[in-house]
Amino acid sequence: MSISVPDVHRRAIIVDGHCDTPYRLFRHNVHLDEHDPEAQADLKTLQESGITASFFAAYVPPPYANRGAANLARKLIALIHDEARRRADAVTLCTDSAGIRAAKRDGKLALMIGVEGGHAIEDSLDILRELYERGARYMTLTHVNTNNWCDSSGDAERHGGLTAFGRDVVRAMNDLGMIVDVSHISDKAFAHVVETSRTPVVATHSSCRALCRHPRNMTDDMLRALARNGGVCMINFFSAFISDSVAEVIMHAAKRDRMERPDMDRGTGTGGTEEMPDDRSDWDAFLKWFESLGSPAATLDQVADHVFHAAEVAGIDHVGIGSDFDGVPALPAGLTDASKLPALTARLLERGMSEPDVEKVLGGNFMRVFEQVERAALSRPTTAG
Ligand SMILES: [Zn+2]
Repeated sequence: MSISVPDVHRRAIIVDGHCDTPYRLFRHNVHLDEHDPEAQADLKTLQESGITASFFAAYVPPPYANRGAANLARKLIALIHDEARRRADAVTLCTDSAGIRAAKRDGKLALMIGVEGGHAIEDSLDILRELYERGARYMTLTHVNTNNWCDSSGDAERHGGLTAFGRDVVRAMNDLGMIVDVSHISDKAFAHVVETSRTPVVATHSSCRALCRHPRNMTDDMLRALARNGGVCMINFFSAFISDSVAEVIMHAAKRDRMERPDMDRGTGTGGTEEMPDDRSDWDAFLKWFESLGSPAATLDQVADHVFHAAEVAGIDHVGIGSDFDGVPALPAGLTDASKLPALTARLLERGMSEPDVEKVLGGNFMRVFEQVERAALSRPTTAG
């Protein structure tokens, strides 16, 4: 059954702030255009989604911290490059806003690279610069683990926010022209990032805490600070970040089952074992656990609620979408894979959002920030004579 696609959805540049497909491809050893029953986003559904540019995450699970984190990031970045090369007829790897506009013109899917988990740089600005050179255009400062320089919303506070080195990381990202992603970080770290960054910052996959109490979500105060900063909050579709009752079920069960990190977009927290993580079995165990809770799901209207709430609190210029496809065990009914995205646009229109506002949410706001970040980068000296 095909979904009707609103005109504005066809016209718009649509940017998905966060998609975890690379880690699925890595775990399952499949390609983007191959069938995988667990896929929430593959080449076919991404093409049907109307998405212009998807930020593919080079996600480094927390157990890799201080144990080969940079190498896993390099491996996943290489995987994204390979997938783009393999289907160059349909996909193009992009590293700038002009590339996204060109992909829209050419009818191709633009893959962008975002590194998830600041532990990937192994406390080295040289590695940060190297990941930028390899194509990464944002970095999520933490995952569910506090690292050596930034506190996470899903872990114990160690630094009271961002350390002095953490501030250096943010400044180095500004200089490179790399977007600072504030999803996952603690509230205090968020405040420190906003006061440190000289460019707007982005929450690539975070929803609203006023509607769903999960600590991963943004409070209204944070949304207002993000608006003053000129940034964008890209709404995450994970049911546990959208529906307060789903969040409650999960957080309660996590406590009961003594999960180390109740922040559940991946990462069950194998912390403490000496073994390297088994990416396949860790994720499968998490899926089983989630199924044991009855796989509670949010609704499409609840996703729209978050978009409207963020627009009301931060302003329409500061809202976007960051699906978290392939990184979460439960998507809302009606939004169960990438191909269903036009239904969200249709719902926003039905509920009274104007077409120009819908275009901003779908990608216009992100493009504005990305272009600002690009312009603010220090021009790098050319090596050629
Ligand atoms: Zn995430």
